[in-house]
Amino acid sequence: MPAWTIISPRERDYGHPMRMKIFRIMKTVYRMLDPPNEPSAITEVGHIATLGYAAVLQEKPEPPIISSVVIHFRLFTESVTRFALLFHDMQIEDKVHDVRIPVPGELAPDMMDIYDFVFARSQKLLISSRDSDYWAECDLARRVSKQLHVQKYCERLLRQEGDGAVDIAGLRPDISRCPICDSNLIHCNSCQVASCESHVCRGFSDPPFARCVRHKMEVLCFPCLQGQGSKRELEKCPGCNSWCCARDISSCTGHPLSIPYMPRVFSSKFIAPGLITAYTESTRTHPPKRGSCMECKLPGWRSCRNKLCWSHSICPECTSGGQTCMCGEVWACDLCAEHDPSVFIRCPRCRRLFCYSCCYIDDCLMCNSSDLCHDCAEEVSDTDDKELEEMPAKLVASCGSCEVKMCDLCESYLAVSCAVCSSRLCIPCVRDAECSCDRVLCDGCVADHGCGLCSQRHRSDDNDGS
Ligand SMILES: [Zn+2]
Ligand SMILES: [Zn+2]
Ligand SMILES: [Zn+2]
Ligand SMILES: [Zn+2]
Ligand SMILES: [Zn+2]
Ligand SMILES: [Zn+2]
Ligand SMILES: [Zn+2]
Ligand SMILES: [Zn+2]
Repeated sequence: MPAWTIISPRERDYGHPMRMKIFRIMKTVYRMLDPPNEPSAITEVGHIATLGYAAVLQEKPEPPIISSVVIHFRLFTESVTRFALLFHDMQIEDKVHDVRIPVPGELAPDMMDIYDFVFARSQKLLISSRDSDYWAECDLARRVSKQLHVQKYCERLLRQEGDGAVDIAGLRPDISRCPICDSNLIHCNSCQVASCESHVCRGFSDPPFARCVRHKMEVLCFPCLQGQGSKRELEKCPGCNSWCCARDISSCTGHPLSIPYMPRVFSSKFIAPGLITAYTESTRTHPPKRGSCMECKLPGWRSCRNKLCWSHSICPECTSGGQTCMCGEVWACDLCAEHDPSVFIRCPRCRRLFCYSCCYIDDCLMCNSSDLCHDCAEEVSDTDDKELEEMPAKLVASCGSCEVKMCDLCESYLAVSCAVCSSRLCIPCVRDAECSCDRVLCDGCVADHGCGLCSQRHRSDDNDGS
């Protein structure tokens, strides 16, 4: 008897098209006959359901006759089959108590679909049931179901529209097009049921399928979507009200309740050591909360400038204490504003925050220490007696190529000079200027004084089109 394990603790879920229907039946059977053990969701691991059939071969070209179809169910807590669903007898067999119960009417539609699938599948080549071939089996099963559902779609139109309304001769179950409007048919990724793609067509499914606005291939029918329980692959964005892949919906993971004390490291561009670990290890103020799709911005939600922040999106409840720079362009959460110096420059005198593109303050490219902001620089005099927590940097040089500023300390220890004009160069520009001629030249000198190779530098930069 050929059989397939549709729900299995071992095999990865390759999306067998009968999986959701069989799980629905399994749930109903346990709810009726063993209520305390009703499995809750398809994502609950370890349950087993196998679908098998027996066929009597006929003389070619007659198709084989299906003599029995049976599904065996077993929970992960059970060591042997608990229930068997016998299609030809329309009975459920309780293997433990050795009794048989008639199948309730509510299971009939799903059983009919499964039977049709088994019949269609039995006419294809058998694929071995080894684990490694399970993917191929699911793939074949999907194609078989897809074709079956094109046919069922046409049958639905015939029932719905009455004889003559649909051109029966023109119906081609092997072509995925709507016979009414010629739009494409779309199929549920899980069970393969079909709907017309066009919202205005009478072949459009009711209730409508969920389909991601950005990834048109991501489609689920309503029952399959519901069957995914709390781990739905598609979700409605509360901003634009369209279906989106769940992985593209932002979420706030909750503000860390507390992180260990971290001393501020002055004059360092690097994030406080241990900050990211502290974020991961801290308990959070709330469990993950769903936000919106990437296109929408929900009121009050923000993103921290620190890309390694504790949450990619931050809900209104968790934004308090966050900081914005003087020009209003950059926002960071309270923790990153405090512990990640690559987010803001802080004026050593007035303590106001500036982002790195604010032109209102200068800092040393190499060590990140900052000068006074322009306001403070104007106010301050040599006799300024205001005690500064941090000494402002002395920005003494700018790079001969890119013009970024360098402080006195970095200038004396780190900077390299142009071999022709002796202007100081910052580390990134020195790296860019490296050439086999072993001389480092600034952008101004390289065209006229560079070797055959490095004199090409500027010209090829221009050709990049940037
Ligand atoms: Zn249509
Ligand atoms: Zn479906
Ligand atoms: Zn949206
Ligand atoms: Zn942050
Ligand atoms: Zn939050
Ligand atoms: Zn200032
Ligand atoms: Zn410096
Ligand atoms: Zn130069």
